[in-house]
Amino acid sequence: MGNLTLAIIKPDAVRQNVIGEIISMITAAGFKIKAMKMINLSRESAMGFYEVHKERPFYGELVDFMTSGPCVPIMLEKENAVEDYRKLIGATDPAQAEEGTVRKRFAKSKAENCVHGSDSDENALIEIAHFFSRDERLTNYGL
Ligand code: ADP
Ligand code: MG
Repeated sequence: MGNLTLAIIKPDAVRQNVIGEIISMITAAGFKIKAMKMINLSRESAMGFYEVHKERPFYGELVDFMTSGPCVPIMLEKENAVEDYRKLIGATDPAQAEEGTVRKRFAKSKAENCVHGSDSDENALIEIAHFFSRDERLTNYGL
């Protein structure tokens, strides 16, 4: 069972000024912050991060959205991190998200859905390495 995941507080949530509320929900759920920063993603970086979705009809819209303002990538640690964090954020479409989840509380649409979460332990490591250098991680975990 992996213990790391990569969260991103997306530009729509930064615009809503709810970075603090979302981080509070994350830490209240037992996650430890291992690396964090606020950045403006370049188009190149956003396209690379979402490369798995490049054939999907929403890819262009997704890259536009993710580069529309600053976002906050966060490396998180907890036992069963990937699954537990995805439970905390709720379904991709906020209309389907359960009460009490981050997306139910703050997301406006399927596209502008406030937060990212890795979908597997393998992708978590790839995504953490996309944003954070060895020196930026409190724990290196051999990455
Ligand atoms: P998740 O973020 O829940 O893992 P996906 O990996 O399927 O969801 O999609 C990545 C991101 O692409 C979503 O978080 C959302 O911002 C955007 N997205 C997904 N589906 C759609 C859609 N049908 N229309 C517009 N944007 C979408
Ligand atoms: Mg995904």
